[in-house]
Amino acid sequence: MHDEADLHFDKLHEECGVFAIYGHPEAANVTYLGLYALQHRGQESAGIASGNGNQIVCRKDMGHVADIFQPEVLGQLPGHMAIGHTRYSTTGDSKMLNAQPFSVQCHKGPIAVAHNGNITNAAELRRELEADGSIFQATSDTEVILHLVARSRERTLAGALREALLQLEGAFSLVFLAADQLIVARDPHGFRPLAMGQMELSEHRIGYVFASETCAFDLIDAVYLNDVEPGEMVIVGPKGVTREHYAPKRNLAHCVFEHVYFARPDSLVFGRPVQLSREAMGRRLAEEHFVDADVVVPVPDSGVAAAIGFSAQSGIPFRQALIRNHYVGRTFIEPSQAIRDFGVRLKLNPVRHLLEGKRVILVDDSIVRGTTSRKIVRMVRNAGAKEVHMRISCPPTISPCFYGVDTPNKQQLIAANSTVEEIRRFVEADSLGYLSLGGLTDAVGDTNRDFCNACYTGNYPTDLVQVEALLRNGARVD
Ligand code: AMP
Repeated sequence: MHDEADLHFDKLHEECGVFAIYGHPEAANVTYLGLYALQHRGQESAGIASGNGNQIVCRKDMGHVADIFQPEVLGQLPGHMAIGHTRYSTTGDSKMLNAQPFSVQCHKGPIAVAHNGNITNAAELRRELEADGSIFQATSDTEVILHLVARSRERTLAGALREALLQLEGAFSLVFLAADQLIVARDPHGFRPLAMGQMELSEHRIGYVFASETCAFDLIDAVYLNDVEPGEMVIVGPKGVTREHYAPKRNLAHCVFEHVYFARPDSLVFGRPVQLSREAMGRRLAEEHFVDADVVVPVPDSGVAAAIGFSAQSGIPFRQALIRNHYVGRTFIEPSQAIRDFGVRLKLNPVRHLLEGKRVILVDDSIVRGTTSRKIVRMVRNAGAKEVHMRISCPPTISPCFYGVDTPNKQQLIAANSTVEEIRRFVEADSLGYLSLGGLTDAVGDTNRDFCNACYTGNYPTDLVQVEALLRNGARVD
């Protein structure tokens, strides 16, 4: 019988954004802007490593991008190439040690790496490396990659990286900085996004940029070219750009949750506008779970695009009857005695005159534990709503993610342990409707079954995770 705590990748829920640039005289400054646009992908720590052909300088800290990278810090980051990272994680005690990029000096010269995703065989690889004498500083799975590269007998850095990547399982969109080149790579399943763009610089020179989401390109006036393909490695150096497939083709497994919740609606993710997907989810949800009501109200910001789609399809007016305070951080300290239990009121406040006496359709992207949703339903009812009908723009979340999204374990996922009717009662809604899996598949335009839906099906697209998931559920695997 496996104990949850024994399962090696359980604690590695990392949500991150990555950025990289080559060929720009102010590479660190541009990376700062890129990370600023990717802040929603991780708010715990951020870092930039930049290079000028000889040395790599790395600066990272806990906190938000704009707080960390004051002018004097950016001034310490020289050179024409840089990588950057924003991170939110539930991992580990020593959070600063896990902040990225990781930057080291090895016999292949200075190297730095930043990573989005979870490497699901990191624990095994780490055990093997430690048994062979490697010393680790952090608990993050990303450090494993640096050790594999440093130990490789391959002469070139690209060769060493290729050898390292072929040993990894799971999800990784990687940006990698060396003395005189930038290398980016994506896992063969393409779990997490990684877009490539270019910037016109003076004298007809071109700079190359890479980012988790294209909203980072918009801010810096870069043009989206295409995605780094699953299993592809792109090398940018003094001799130009080389693209190669380092791994054979595998079944694609783009994370559908990027389109449901995680990415910004103004981004292209996997080459598709996120807003388009979300509105389509809302339209389909209205077809699948119509109910007669007076207003469609989104839970901001996560439910906005789907609520627009729901309203358009149903003809029921869209109203922003919940207002979000955008300045609430994760570190807010509640004055414990004066006013107890701010709960969700700190972040959301109802617009009473839009809700009083109304039959309300409340749209959100997902229910995870159900506790927030319950508070919001109560809040809407307390503001005078006559009926509250909850609509969710994806299927019930029944399985945790091991590929880089922060979902709690199965015991805490309400839909893993309750029926829709039980969840309805828990969140105290008059009715509850989830988008079907078919509806979601259509909404993201997944005609070739290229998406990973494991959080809704429990079917994991990689063997190691699937076997562990079966063990977890009490199955015998001989
Ligand atoms: P709850 O009702 O407590 O399950 O919370 C649901 C809310 O959490 C919804 O508004 C979601 O948008 C939000 N949510 C879903 N997944 C995540 C995630 N991985 N990180 C942060 N928030 C999330």
